Amino acid sequence: MTELRDQILTAAQNMSADGLSPGKSGNVSARTSEGFIITPTGLVYDQLEPSDLVLVLNDGSIPEGQLKPSSEAPFHLSLYRSRPDINAIVHCHSNKATALACAGHSIPAFHYMVAVAGGKDIPLAPYATFGTEALASSLVATLTDRNACLMAHHGQIALGKTPSIALDLAMEIENLAAQYIDVLQLGNPTVLSGEEMDRVLEKFSAYGQQG
Ligand SMILES: [Zn+2]
Repeated sequence: MTELRDQILTAAQNMSADGLSPGKSGNVSARTSEGFIITPTGLVYDQLEPSDLVLVLNDGSIPEGQLKPSSEAPFHLSLYRSRPDINAIVHCHSNKATALACAGHSIPAFHYMVAVAGGKDIPLAPYATFGTEALASSLVATLTDRNACLMAHHGQIALGKTPSIALDLAMEIENLAAQYIDVLQLGNPTVLSGEEMDRVLEKFSAYGQQG
């Protein structure tokens, strides 16, 4: 358990150091046998101790004597319930992904690397107020067959087997978002065919690059 807390904290601090988390935005969590452990609300990651991270139980209850969890804990809970294959979640308001999401864009197959999210595009989850069950439902529906998506008027989210794998995916989503914005500015973006993306996805699964 201590080791898992260290992994979450390292990912949260790296997320901040990598510039993916403007202000105090974003949160990181990982699954445990009893529920999940998540970063607390409103604190700077550099000053956190492993013991500051908050345990949320599988029924959504929070044992007393802990800090307040991230306000976005409800969607973490729903995603752990709906995706038994993943064990960690990174959510952030990284600049380029958030800009695309606020302009109403998903990321199509303009580059073959969009396959890192597990499909032929990186979808955009419909908007709902932060911290609500409506937002949790939006993300659960969008992430049935993807490990990452943009969140309309909000940011992005990435899932993985470990906090560091989820963070790597969030970083890749941010890179792709930055590149796609450049492509949109050049005009007339073109996308790879569905057939080509099938080939890419096949190669990704063969080489185990989907985390
Ligand atoms: Zn957020």
